[in-house]
Amino acid sequence: MTKEEVVVDKYLAGTAGMAHCIKAALIDMDGVLYDSMKNHTAAWFRMATELGIECTRDEFYAYEGMTGAATIDILFKRAYGRNASPEEAKELYARKARYFMETGEPQMMPGATRMLEVLRNAGIERVLVTGSGQHSILDRLDRDYPGIFAPDKRVTAMNVTHGKPDPEPYLKGLEFAGCGPHEAVVIENAPLGVLAGHRSGCFTIGITTGPIPRHDMEKSGADIVYGSMPEFADKLPELITAFKNRQAK
Ligand code: CA
Repeated sequence: MTKEEVVVDKYLAGTAGMAHCIKAALIDMDGVLYDSMKNHTAAWFRMATELGIECTRDEFYAYEGMTGAATIDILFKRAYGRNASPEEAKELYARKARYFMETGEPQMMPGATRMLEVLRNAGIERVLVTGSGQHSILDRLDRDYPGIFAPDKRVTAMNVTHGKPDPEPYLKGLEFAGCGPHEAVVIENAPLGVLAGHRSGCFTIGITTGPIPRHDMEKSGADIVYGSMPEFADKLPELITAFKNRQAK
């Protein structure tokens, strides 16, 4: 058996005979479609150090997937022992967004176009699931990935209140896709996002596209972890076939 068949069998064994075929892929944006995490961490670090809050640049990789307000609360609790007010959160997130833009345009993730084409050719609906409200990057989607995400198949900061690791963004993605958790896969690059996907009940794929070790994604509940986006794009047809074959059994 291939590695893909093994993990699909393991996942399906836990779904108690629920329907299982891949109708939709719920796809994270930062660190999956764009190699943008180094830009985000630099922007957060600049904003926090300007406020005089002690932090490291790398710690912001661990907060990936949280809402901006949740990240700001972590900083505020550390420095001032309280959460930020809504006004403070709004102002500071806007400042972070500005610094993010000043880091330059993030590159498209190498291999992501090929991965999306495999999904489209297999007739699998693509749903964007991001907690981001960063318009400088959301507005690029149609240019960089034309015809991939229908306008009504995009979960962003506008649609969610909790953010990852709460399953809400992925549950919203399932709602937009019109299918159940055992008919969709989640594609993620960060532990909190993987945890959100796992909690939603979907088969959850982790891809290490940055400095986060694969072990952290396995710990968060990833059903399978790939070492890079090109590797995932190579293996995706096998994964789709593994689901199809199991469904036929
Ligand atoms: Ca991400």
